[in-house]
Amino acid sequence: MSTNAILEVKNLAKAFAANKVLHHVNFEVKQGEIVGLLGPNGSGKSTLLNIISGFVGPDAGEIRLVGRSIAGMPTYRLVQEGMARTFQLPIMPQKMSVLEVAMAAATDAHGVFSTLFRTARDRAAERRALERARHLLDELLLTRVAHLPASAISGGQKKLLGIVCALMAEPRLLMLDEPTAGVHPNVRNDIVQALHRLNASGVTLVIVEHDMHFIRDACSRCIVLDQGEIVASCRPDELASNARVVQAYLGA
Ligand code: ADP
Ligand code: MG
Repeated sequence: MSTNAILEVKNLAKAFAANKVLHHVNFEVKQGEIVGLLGPNGSGKSTLLNIISGFVGPDAGEIRLVGRSIAGMPTYRLVQEGMARTFQLPIMPQKMSVLEVAMAAATDAHGVFSTLFRTARDRAAERRALERARHLLDELLLTRVAHLPASAISGGQKKLLGIVCALMAEPRLLMLDEPTAGVHPNVRNDIVQALHRLNASGVTLVIVEHDMHFIRDACSRCIVLDQGEIVASCRPDELASNARVVQAYLGA
């Protein structure tokens, strides 16, 4: 592996029945990068994220996180290894508040919702989780709605809460599936700023996004998926002049 790769994907393949969704997918993400993952609808971006994050098994190929093979590893183990992801369409529990949903994503606070037999360690973990949840809700502009039912907030706010939940585990690699789709344009810039701060604190980011303004403002490099293969890796400002990218989007 190259010395500072955090994520390496080699010859990854996946088919759903006769639908070959990914084949020969090869790419690498270095520590500290903010990589945009682009591609037309149906090109396999979410499937790729689902495989890397352990939600879907690959048919073939290799995935390494900081040099360690992780293909087929269950999601909870991947979270322990420092990987987290958000979802294109977040689903929130009906009866929990925004703050409770964030707290429930804490990995070190097993005693959060139990009132019996709590040890001093549980209480310390709970305090840490509460502090972290409050801090992250503030970072992602959700303090005002922290006590509302999570099911009652807007689609954009659910996206932000999804990011908060992913961050509760203190990941070093965070993958976001369309973080600004459905988010109010005023909030888009705040998300860019929050992701930059996160990146500056040492978190590597892989972001699936369609919004080219967002890509340009947020990403240091783009990789482009077309019909299940990576067809380009370039800076955001090089996308428009890349023939394979233009071909992917125009379907030529
Ligand atoms: P993207 O996120 O780039 O829009 P997806 O990864 O969602 O693309 O989908 C790529 C292809 O895989 C599509 O043809 C989609 O119908 C198919 N696909 C995705 N998930 C499944 C699944 N769980 N079962 C069957 N087909 C799927
Ligand atoms: Mg998708």
